[in-house]
Amino acid sequence: MILVTGGAGFIGGNFVLDWLGNPSAEGVVNLDKLTYAGNLTTLQSLSSDTRHVFAHGDISNYELVLSLLKKHSIRAVVNFAAESHVDRSIHGPGDFIQTNVVGTFNLLEAVRAYWSDLPESEKKSFRFLHVSTDEVYGSLSPADPAFSETNPYEPNSPYSASKAASDHLVRAWHHTYGLPVLTTNCSNNYGPYHFPEKLIPLVILNALAGKPLPIYGDGQQIRDWLYVKDHCSAIRRVLEAGKLGETYNVGSWNEKPNLDVVHTICSILDSLRPKADGTSYASQITYVKDRPGHDRRYAIDATKLERELGWKPAETFETGIRKTVQWYLDNQGWTNGVLSGSYRDWVQKQYSNP
Ligand code: NAD
Repeated sequence: MILVTGGAGFIGGNFVLDWLGNPSAEGVVNLDKLTYAGNLTTLQSLSSDTRHVFAHGDISNYELVLSLLKKHSIRAVVNFAAESHVDRSIHGPGDFIQTNVVGTFNLLEAVRAYWSDLPESEKKSFRFLHVSTDEVYGSLSPADPAFSETNPYEPNSPYSASKAASDHLVRAWHHTYGLPVLTTNCSNNYGPYHFPEKLIPLVILNALAGKPLPIYGDGQQIRDWLYVKDHCSAIRRVLEAGKLGETYNVGSWNEKPNLDVVHTICSILDSLRPKADGTSYASQITYVKDRPGHDRRYAIDATKLERELGWKPAETFETGIRKTVQWYLDNQGWTNGVLSGSYRDWVQKQYSNP
């Protein structure tokens, strides 16, 4: 079995669904603390799949992690668990240090203890894959080349600083203790099951609710968008073929200013769900004060992953964003549950603490 941490979150949830979508795939132990961002209704379709074992807990809990590793004879760990929202990190950085830095440290220590005791052949094939972000590289000017794996780390927000620290710990556990690690640094993800505090789901849902579509500053901040299912396929590829101790950038060459992303969503909604009064959803765009220290541009050079491991994204931004908007239109039960918090009641009925 594999251990996935943070598998009730946006990317982790998509990864678990994607992994178990393969009928011959091995099982997943899903360790998640169920913070505000953890949502087990995303995994409702797996309620009767015995290959999915949910464990409610914290990656900082060394004893719990070690017992799960032993109990389920784990052969690989994929670490998604994190505090992930930049705005929240500005208002309350403490949780980010606790989970992203201390949590990753405790997780690494539990994995190291388990891995050290494995028989030699299992030790060799064991993998610890750490999922990280392009934000560790800092911000680019318009003319700079995209981030490659050799860019220096220059994190600017409490979130990216905490992720940078976790990446360094993972690297050090490889160089110091020989732990078989892999790290991926990816660009902004979008797609189904995305918590509506992030730009793309927020814009879709606010547009449909007739609310303002908030744009930070001038809206010219550039992000490089990756469809979440492409991210999942990249992680699977790195897990099976990545070179130990290496990092791989994951991106799909889709740099877009935030304002363009919002206009694209509005025009897709205009065609899929025209407003009764005939106006465009773009009329709801509202400019708000920029976020402090807002990075201007991120862009990922994914050449290494494409060339060395033969990975390719399946979606362009145009195809991925259309699928995403359609998904939100078709799954309003999920989003209503998240917005009302009712998914917590469902979770309490389904699961009890281990
Ligand atoms: P998310 O916030 O949607 O989900 C995080 C999950 O981790 C939640 O289910 C939460 O309950 C769980 N969690 C938080 N603290 C925990 C702890 N101490 N122990 C166990 N579980 C805990 O995040 P996401 O967007 O799915 O991101 C997943 C990973 O990918 C993160 O490491 C993030 O830094 C990285 N990443 C995300 C993006 C993006 O665009 N979303 C881009 C690059 C990298």
